[in-house]
Amino acid sequence: MINVEREHIIFDLDDTLVHCNVHFLRVRRQFVDQMLRWFGRAGVTAREIWRLQARIDLEQVERDGLGKDRFPQSLVAAYRVFCGKFRRPTDAEEERALLSLGYTVYEYPVTLYPHAREILEHLHNQGHVLYLYTGGDPDVQLDKLTRSGLDRFFAPDRRFVTPFKDRAHLRHLMDRHGVPPFGGWMVGNSLRSDILPALELGLMAIHIPESQPWEFDHAVIPDVYHPRFRSVSELREVPAVISRGRVAAG
Ligand SMILES: [Mg+2]
Repeated sequence: MINVEREHIIFDLDDTLVHCNVHFLRVRRQFVDQMLRWFGRAGVTAREIWRLQARIDLEQVERDGLGKDRFPQSLVAAYRVFCGKFRRPTDAEEERALLSLGYTVYEYPVTLYPHAREILEHLHNQGHVLYLYTGGDPDVQLDKLTRSGLDRFFAPDRRFVTPFKDRAHLRHLMDRHGVPPFGGWMVGNSLRSDILPALELGLMAIHIPESQPWEFDHAVIPDVYHPRFRSVSELREVPAVISRGRVAAG
C-alpha cells in the first residue's frame, strides 16, 4: 500500500475541512438587523454596528483566544456601547436575546468543503500521518469533528484543540509527536494561524484561501518563506501538491 514517502500532515478544521465563517457572518447579519430595529431611528448605520462588533470580537480573540463565549459576548458588548452612546438603558431581556442569538452559531449542521472526505481518505490510505489542529473550545470542536464524520481519519491523540493557534502551540504538537521541522505539512485557510507559524517552524504550508476571509486571519508571508509556501484554490489539489513534495521547493 505504501509506496510514497510517509508525511506528517496537519489539517486545520474550520473553513478548511468544514464551513465555519459563513455561520458567523449569518449571525452577525442577524445581529445587525436586530440592532437596527433598536437603534436605527437614532441614526446608527449597519456599517457602524458591523464594524464595532468586529473590533470588539477581534480584541477579545487577541486577549482571550477562541473560547466558546467570546462571540456571543461580543454582541452584548457592542450593544452596551450603543446603549451608552445613545443614553438608552441596557435591558437584561435584550441582552439575553443577543446572547442566545450568538450561541446559535454553534448549532448549525456541519457542512464539509468539497472533496474533504475523499482527500483525507486518499492521504490516509497512502500511509500519511494526519493531525487535526484547530482553534476554539474543545467540546465544540471535537463535537463538530464527530458530526462531520471526519474523525476516523484522525487518531484521538492526534486531535489538538487550542485557544490560540500560534507558533508555541504548533511546536507543542510537533514535539509531542516527533514531527521533524522539515518533515511535515500544514494545510489551512488562515495565513495568520495556520500558515505563518508552520513556515516559521520549518514546515511546508498549503494555503487554501477563502472567498470571504475573517479579518483575524490576515498575515503577510515574508519572501524568505516562499519556497515552502503553496497556495491552492481547492482541497482536491492538496494531494498532488504533497506528492510533488519538496522538489519544487528548491
Ligand atoms: Mg481555519
